Amino acid sequence: MEFISTRGQAEPLGFCDAVEAGLASDGGLYLPAELPDISGELPKWDRLGYRELCFAFMRYFATDIPVDELQRIVNISYKRFTHPEIAPLVELDENTSVLELFHGPTLAFKDFALQLLGNFYEAQIARTGQPINVLGATSGDTGSAAIHGLLGKEGVNIFILYPLGRVSPLQERQMTTTGAANVFPLAIAGSFDDAQMAVKDLFGELDFKRDYHLSAVNSINLARILAQCVYYVWAWLRLPEEKREGVEFVVPTGNFGNVLAGWLVKRMGLPVASFRVATNQNDILYRLFTSGVYEVGEVRPSFAPSMDIQVASNFERFLYFNVGENPEKVCQLMQQMRETGKVEFPDFNRDVFTASRADDADIKRLIKEVHERYDYVVDPHTACGFAELNPDKHSVVLATAHPAKFPDTIEAAIGLHPTAPALEKLKALPSVSYPLPADKEAIRAFIEEHVSKA
Ligand SMILES: *Cc1c(COP(=O)(O)O)cnc(C)c1O
Repeated sequence: MEFISTRGQAEPLGFCDAVEAGLASDGGLYLPAELPDISGELPKWDRLGYRELCFAFMRYFATDIPVDELQRIVNISYKRFTHPEIAPLVELDENTSVLELFHGPTLAFKDFALQLLGNFYEAQIARTGQPINVLGATSGDTGSAAIHGLLGKEGVNIFILYPLGRVSPLQERQMTTTGAANVFPLAIAGSFDDAQMAVKDLFGELDFKRDYHLSAVNSINLARILAQCVYYVWAWLRLPEEKREGVEFVVPTGNFGNVLAGWLVKRMGLPVASFRVATNQNDILYRLFTSGVYEVGEVRPSFAPSMDIQVASNFERFLYFNVGENPEKVCQLMQQMRETGKVEFPDFNRDVFTASRADDADIKRLIKEVHERYDYVVDPHTACGFAELNPDKHSVVLATAHPAKFPDTIEAAIGLHPTAPALEKLKALPSVSYPLPADKEAIRAFIEEHVSKA
């Protein structure tokens, strides 16, 4: 299968090349040239385990990877998940279930995509003989999931910038205690935005980018979206038949990546009634889906830091379909967004989306309410999903992180201190990180010093 750019100015690429490229050369995002129809497969897929389902789904897309190799990649990618079902669907009551996506190595849903992406990179390096240096900035979960997807992989080095003192101590330990020689956590003096800017500046140095085979692992990578499609199919198949078609998936969201994956599988023929876009106080997507206006605001730090985002980068993929798959229109709207920070969509198709928002006080209250009502502990991101459940539908709330990653907020809400063995272990391990200023040249010098030019 080929993959096309939302902006229509880049050559279509095969799966492996689109994955390696990340962003298309015209600044757009890759999408499958056509979406397959999976509806006929669903009765057969009902019996598959998670890995088998993932393989069956990815085969539609990763057509340039030999079947045996794809099978192997999928199998090893979910090896480090600690729950036998990989993504258990837990019923809380008649109308509400939780899809637990936090049983991977870093206890957040990003492991589903980044474990797989790490193995795709490794396969690509074996094929091309070219090493890859991965560079990215993180406010917490993405960096640790990326590091755990790539650690120890042949031919890959990974440099992750994080704002010193502004990620949770546990998130920091997940990045700094791996002991892997190919992992370089860079503790940046400055904010996440400063770190992000330094990364962006360095990607703008095209000679350096080429000579060092720099690659990004941000949420716009095609493989991440496709990997996330799988658990929507999986959860749907775990529901009793009478509940399937009326299901509403509730998705705590920041970059729009996770909910976009669900919406794409609906377009591929999974009969899902609707999606709820659940934001925290950084509510650009809530405002979009309730008023039809997309307007960038200031980021305000919240209890759900992985959703502290005001530019929903994956929105561009959704936009592409909403303007009749017209890349010129996408370019025009993206330019308007860059110039004015605001776009209005008067005739925006919002049929299958509803939205809710939760500020920090709501998050605390919701953690408490869910605990009292169901004797179940949700993390601050997942809590946003409980802001407003539709009583007429069966809601599947995506649990995006394990509560033990955010013990202080949980403790403040319900007086319990959640733990997880994987996190307890980290406390005894030596931590290694490299302090650097938020400056392109300093980061360039660091990379030059730690890898040889290919
Ligand atoms: C990244 C993240 C989110 C937001 O996911 P998007 O794909 O950006 O919508 C939500 N919850 C947790 C725990 C995360 O790590």
